[in-house]
Amino acid sequence: MSQKFETLAIHAGCPQEPVTGAVNIPIFQTSTYGQSGPGEHRGFEYSRTRNPTRDALEANLAALEGARHGMAFGSGCAATDAIMHCLSQGDHVVSADDVYGGTFRLFDKVHRRHGLDFTFVPAADPDAYARAVNERTKLIWLETPTNPLLSIVDIEAVTKMAKARNIPVVVDNTFATPYLQQPISMGATLVVHSVTKYLGGHSDVVGGAVLTSDDEWFQRVSFVQNAAGAVPGPMDCFLTLRGIKTLAVRMDRHVENARAIAGFLASNAAVESVIYPGLEGHPQHAIAMRQMRAPGAMISFVVRGGLEAARRLLRGLEVFTLAESLGGVESLIEHPAIMTHASIPKEMRLARGIGDGLIRISVGIEHIDDLRADLEAGLLRAAS
Ligand SMILES: *Cc1c(COP(=O)(O)O)cnc(C)c1O
Repeated sequence: MSQKFETLAIHAGCPQEPVTGAVNIPIFQTSTYGQSGPGEHRGFEYSRTRNPTRDALEANLAALEGARHGMAFGSGCAATDAIMHCLSQGDHVVSADDVYGGTFRLFDKVHRRHGLDFTFVPAADPDAYARAVNERTKLIWLETPTNPLLSIVDIEAVTKMAKARNIPVVVDNTFATPYLQQPISMGATLVVHSVTKYLGGHSDVVGGAVLTSDDEWFQRVSFVQNAAGAVPGPMDCFLTLRGIKTLAVRMDRHVENARAIAGFLASNAAVESVIYPGLEGHPQHAIAMRQMRAPGAMISFVVRGGLEAARRLLRGLEVFTLAESLGGVESLIEHPAIMTHASIPKEMRLARGIGDGLIRISVGIEHIDDLRADLEAGLLRAAS
């Protein structure tokens, strides 16, 4: 019988170390490996190409996503970049519009210059992807839930359309994690992660990963991984593995707290609107419930009173940390227009609904009473 998620998270890729029985994979802090004769080695020649601690992380992540192959990178952006480097000049990519700001910047400012062509479509409209496809389209890029507007893309609808046209679909699964959503089982060819977020889970490491069950895509991306070399060091791989062991229990608590906070915000008079896929009023609530185990722990909301009210709310919080990033055990809060999404031109930001009153929170696993009290005090300041 195949093992369950919680068991894989702790054991996949990490058998007992054979020499000492250590229950954790050692941090193989080495750049090179001795050979017994020229070209005679034990599968390890140089750590850009292969390192045992990275091997363990790659096998573990592949198991969690139900993929045959895993590749670890020095950051989520490096993972995204490695996939884009598999394309060639003149190729066309259809991408959801509400993607991570750094992903948009990489596509628009770097790969466009290298001769790739992009069409950005409204993330939650499944028909828009089919309309944007042309004969040069070599990839469809999805992120769901999206950031910061938490739209839900119907993964099966898009992969079904793409399969009929023989176009691979990539899903950035960072917000959901493989515990809540498994895109490969829904027809995606590639999954990308910023392991910096929930997988690492403790805000102490930056990393990324690409997972696939497609042997040809594995060959292509791993060629770039070695050729371009944006690999994580062994210490970072170890930290990520340590974080992953508790992913399931952390996510359960993240979601429990997020549900409570979404309800609390929705009933607060200082809040204009709450965006959370777990709320019945969310436009893609039904799709979220179908393709996710639970609606995640990211919440966005609009505070009444615009930028000034947002500033009053964000200054003086005691439990929430005002910071970019997400997915750690500690609760974070941020202002997308000024912070995470400042790299998107203002008109485009506003057109997408990222206004001055929008606030995004990453709900941590502190006690719910402390989180609620902190937000309550902040909303009182905002309304004052
Ligand atoms: C953070 C993030 C990335 C980029 O990852 P880094 O590790 O910061 O390079 C990509 N996608 C999403 C959804 C993210 O949240």
